[in-house]
Amino acid sequence: MAYTQFIDGELTAGANRESWINYNPANNTPLGEVFQANAQDIEAAVGSAEKAFHDWRTKTGAERGRVLVKAAEILRSRLEQIALLETQDVGKPISESLAVDISSAADALEYFGGIAAGIHGEYVDLKNAFGYTRPEPLGVCAGIGAWNYPIQIAAWKAAPALACGNAMIFKPSELTPVTALELAKAFMEAGAPRGLFNVVQGDGRVGAMLTDHPRIAKISLTGSVATGKKIFAGAASQLKRVTLELGGKSPLIIFEDADLQNAVSAALLANFYTQGEVCSNGTRVFVQRKIYDAFLMQLKERTEKIRVGDPTDPDTHMGAVISTAHLEKIIRFIDAGKAAGATLLTGGSRPGKDFKGRDISSGNFLTPAIFTDCDDAMEICKEEIFGPVLSILCFDTEEEVIERANNSAYGLAAGVFTNDIKRGHRVIHQLQAGTCWINNYNITPIELPFGGYKQSGLGRENSLAAIQYYTQLKSVYVELGNVESPY
Ligand code: NAP
Repeated sequence: MAYTQFIDGELTAGANRESWINYNPANNTPLGEVFQANAQDIEAAVGSAEKAFHDWRTKTGAERGRVLVKAAEILRSRLEQIALLETQDVGKPISESLAVDISSAADALEYFGGIAAGIHGEYVDLKNAFGYTRPEPLGVCAGIGAWNYPIQIAAWKAAPALACGNAMIFKPSELTPVTALELAKAFMEAGAPRGLFNVVQGDGRVGAMLTDHPRIAKISLTGSVATGKKIFAGAASQLKRVTLELGGKSPLIIFEDADLQNAVSAALLANFYTQGEVCSNGTRVFVQRKIYDAFLMQLKERTEKIRVGDPTDPDTHMGAVISTAHLEKIIRFIDAGKAAGATLLTGGSRPGKDFKGRDISSGNFLTPAIFTDCDDAMEICKEEIFGPVLSILCFDTEEEVIERANNSAYGLAAGVFTNDIKRGHRVIHQLQAGTCWINNYNITPIELPFGGYKQSGLGRENSLAAIQYYTQLKSVYVELGNVESPY
């Protein structure tokens, strides 16, 4: 199997002969060969996207919306096939890719397809004149994706971009080249012009070529803070627009009056869904002292029941992390936590067999880990691990926990559990985070903006808020009287 570029409506290996092997994280067997795009391929993709943009921008919002909604229907009709591809590529459980990944991509296409006809400017009444504004598309936009939610990330970027009349070139992570191609095929079958959504494969060099390309108007990245800074710096030389969806080390705060069972459920979801490889995860779990022991007991018991194993088995709860290199990085963090004096309460080891006794020693599996006796200054409590590692921190007062929660360079997300409605809002309003939850965690409906404060990002994805990041506003003044001139 070869994973290729998708340029001008066609799958093509591209002009380059450089390639690499894409592996299944669950057993490290090859899934296929991927061809790295080169400068010639980027030129072809930009040229084709420009042609598509020329046509697409003249369509009405309703016409554009119809294509997006049709593409969503196509994705939904192929749910099982694409979910399996995603699971094999990412290592996440099939139960997740069936329930979330493909549907979330389709939701974005439906949502932005639905509002495409409603994107409009404003009318302003002036003396002897009037003015109006037009939100106009930017042109050719580039999307650059992370590997944890490949098709969702591609659709979260493509849907608002295309709804607003832009064309897009998308570069998936080199570790997950597969399902962006399925999205590209769905757009073509839904009636999009050739080149409206191109896919170029490759590593950071391809991302840098897109960032530097003078005829690409905007870059939208989902990735790490380090990459975000490089893209921001690269884009600055051309004052190119950016949306940056970056990493986090988010706090989940559990007050003593919280519903304990719900709080434990949320802490588990906030740390172990998708093997912990979720940007907004609540990896710093602050628990108020009075309920600390009871919380810990329930958390440990339920964590140890998580079924780690073959991601294609519908009974599996947790699959394999993306690569052996990433697994080793997570294990280094766990070792650092132990060395710093934290107690590894459970997990953090490589299982030889899965919950049904199958040999999984060749895959990138790790049992879900909980650290106690943590300190805010420890590396495991400061750095984004991006794996199944949860750190519990004890607190006494509201003021104290707000200060400690905000003591981070990141600001992607935050959660609060309490049955006191006033406290819930009061605390959330003081937390420095762009995406927050009260009495739940990691729910990201397409209707709500998603994005970070501080070093976790710039701009917002999803919701009506995304429109402003894929349009530029033209102001038009219309004279109804005479031109007053002193000359
Ligand atoms: P990453 O290493 O930053 O890579 C992200 C993407 O950027 C990849 O496609 C990567 O290519 C590309 N890239 C690397 N160097 C580049 C450069 N100099 N110029 C342009 N593009 C470049 O992140 P990752 O390891 O894939 O993903 C994990 C990170 O993403 C975590 O920090 C996580 O929190 C974050 N994330 C954020 C969100 C959000 O919405 N806020 C969602 C998901 C993930 P290659 O990797 O192929 O080389």
